[in-house]
Amino acid sequence: MTSVVLESVRKNFGSLEVMKGVDLTVEPGEFCVFVGPSGCGKSTLLRIISGLETTTSGQVFIDGKDVTHAEPSERGIAMVFQSYALYPHLTVAENIGFGLSLAKRPKAEIAERVKQTADVLQLAHLLDRKPKALSGGQRQRVAIGRAIIRNPKVFLFDEPLSNLDASLRSQMRIELTELHAKLGATMIYVTHDQVEAMTMADKIVVLNGGQIEQVGTPMTLYNNPASPFVAGFIGSPK
Ligand code: ADP
Ligand code: MG
Repeated sequence: MTSVVLESVRKNFGSLEVMKGVDLTVEPGEFCVFVGPSGCGKSTLLRIISGLETTTSGQVFIDGKDVTHAEPSERGIAMVFQSYALYPHLTVAENIGFGLSLAKRPKAEIAERVKQTADVLQLAHLLDRKPKALSGGQRQRVAIGRAIIRNPKVFLFDEPLSNLDASLRSQMRIELTELHAKLGATMIYVTHDQVEAMTMADKIVVLNGGQIEQVGTPMTLYNNPASPFVAGFIGSPK
């Protein structure tokens, strides 16, 4: 299992200071949730960890290795976004196996891995369908399947459930928590939804204006908020 460590991470977009010195350790196997208001820098921090965005200064370590200047493909991570970005002309099986096809893995191996992945996500009965014949929740599961099949060391989720309706969202929360237990992988999950943070996290990182306000378990943040901001944010779910 894999740790993710950030040291003094700063990020400017032109004159806009978006990350103002972030230090953080995500422990191996942890389900870590980044929470905070819109525009506080959650996605930017995730993109810095994934390598989609560079740091202005500071360092990123994955598994103890300095990956600050490593390409995304060298980092052993997979990212799942809010918009599923499935290929509409490919079946569920082809969507899930796409990365392995690109890597020119043998067909039999791809079929076997697609089947295993579909079983984990309860998609086995939908493998021949096209994305347009799926529900929103099923589409998001396919997107997660595309991440799982690559056996990443770290999963990064950027508000993956925010396009789903409330009842589906609460079901997917449970499924993702179960998936984390099943895979035992390190997961970093971004949301602006306090309920998601409180119910899913081993550890919550509260971000505000490009800085960490507090890091702790849901119970710690709830019982001992470090600032009025944390108290207000954790205490008043939308
Ligand atoms: P969050 O995900 O918490 O809503 P973001 O990380 O997307 O916040 O954005 C943080 C801040 O950085 C916002 O002010 C946003 O407008 C700005 N920002 C994000 N990406 C860029 C970019 N590529 N160029 C300029 N500003 C950006
Ligand atoms: Mg965002």
